Amino acid sequence: MNDGTPIGCRSAPVLRERGQHEVFCGLTAIVWLHRKMQDAFFLVVGSRTCAHLLQSAAGVMIFAEPRFGTAILEEGDLAGLKDANEELDREVARLLERRPDIRQLFLVGSCPSEVIKLDLARAAQRLTRVHAPHVRVLNYSGSGIETTFTQGEDACLAAMVPGLPATETSNLLLVGALPDVVEDQARVLLAGLGIDHVQVLPGRRADQDPAVGPHTRYALLQPFLGDTAAALDGRGATRIEAPFPFGEEGTTAWLRAVADAFGIDEATFARATDAPRARARRAVAAAAGTLSGKRVTFLPDSQLEIPLARFLARECGMEPVEIGTPYLHAGLMAPELDLLPTPVRLSEGQDVERQLDRLRADRPDLTVCGLGLANPLESEGLTTKWAIELVFTPVHFYEQAGDLAALFARPLRRKAILAGSFSLPVAGNTPGSGAEPRRAP
Ligand code: SF4
Repeated sequence: MNDGTPIGCRSAPVLRERGQHEVFCGLTAIVWLHRKMQDAFFLVVGSRTCAHLLQSAAGVMIFAEPRFGTAILEEGDLAGLKDANEELDREVARLLERRPDIRQLFLVGSCPSEVIKLDLARAAQRLTRVHAPHVRVLNYSGSGIETTFTQGEDACLAAMVPGLPATETSNLLLVGALPDVVEDQARVLLAGLGIDHVQVLPGRRADQDPAVGPHTRYALLQPFLGDTAAALDGRGATRIEAPFPFGEEGTTAWLRAVADAFGIDEATFARATDAPRARARRAVAAAAGTLSGKRVTFLPDSQLEIPLARFLARECGMEPVEIGTPYLHAGLMAPELDLLPTPVRLSEGQDVERQLDRLRADRPDLTVCGLGLANPLESEGLTTKWAIELVFTPVHFYEQAGDLAALFARPLRRKAILAGSFSLPVAGNTPGSGAEPRRAP
């Protein structure tokens, strides 16, 4: 974007709202984390509500013997009539006997386990002593009281950091769970820059966990990893400050920040990135025609909202009206805010009725929101994009830039097609075609 639009929202006012909100809790992150960590099991200690949430969020995956489940707290546990710890130990022993492939077990806290103050951190220590060295037991909270949607991944990775092996060597750590194919693309790009000792948190298996120390530099792949970043800082690692690798521009800026941290020269950078950059630009341009000039609002969901709005504004010519995010981490988001066009309304947290009032007054061309709001808003004539797809679909780095733009273009195209269509013409049946109406005998 080079049209003279002012940019830079680092010091823009942020509308902070607290009230009723329509978001997932952090348990949902288990759906993609268990696919990434191939020898891990996620045991939610919660209620039937938690089990139902996971079932509906995971969709058909629940039929594929997934590596997650819920230890359901019954009324007796909640009333303190039974020793929930003893029951948990028994459940874990049974599970590990049945699934000897499990090497990491996460006890995931929920609202009910927090309300009855079940000490899962202590339970994890106790169970590690029992089941080490074959299985390591960790704990984090995915409860709706403490976490929103993608924050579940942050809580999980932050819980892993204290147990990572120590190193004194200089290494690069990529932080965030991406689909394997996208992670491999990042490794290829970095190898092109001459950086090939790359480790990723989380590793695909327990024995692939990265080492961390005072000479570790790490780059975040996702914007919602504030606690994990703080934990890595606590281990002496240094964060490479960069925008997130969405779109051609975001990917290039992210790679450039890493290249600068490792002293890679400009010629090497150009050699490694020129061709994929050109491909990404062409792919984005194919969808940008539909998006250019359209107004977009993000309702809070995943913390991906600001980087995605930056991508849509700068590479696809869209105009962000309101960018809502469940939580705005000023430090991690600073490079993104520097790139956002102004003016734009930034909001953090949610008071859903007030936000919907603003949305109805704004009437943007596209509203990015959760599944619970999408259909009601469509019925009001607004065009929506389900935000959850942006978390489950591969959208990072150059090769996905075109797909990312297409995800936003699709609902607008569908709307245009439906608006232009009139009722389908009914063709007369040709005798003998097999399509004749049935006659009454
Ligand atoms: S953790 Fe809390 S918000 Fe999430 S499903 Fe369980 S009860 Fe509901």
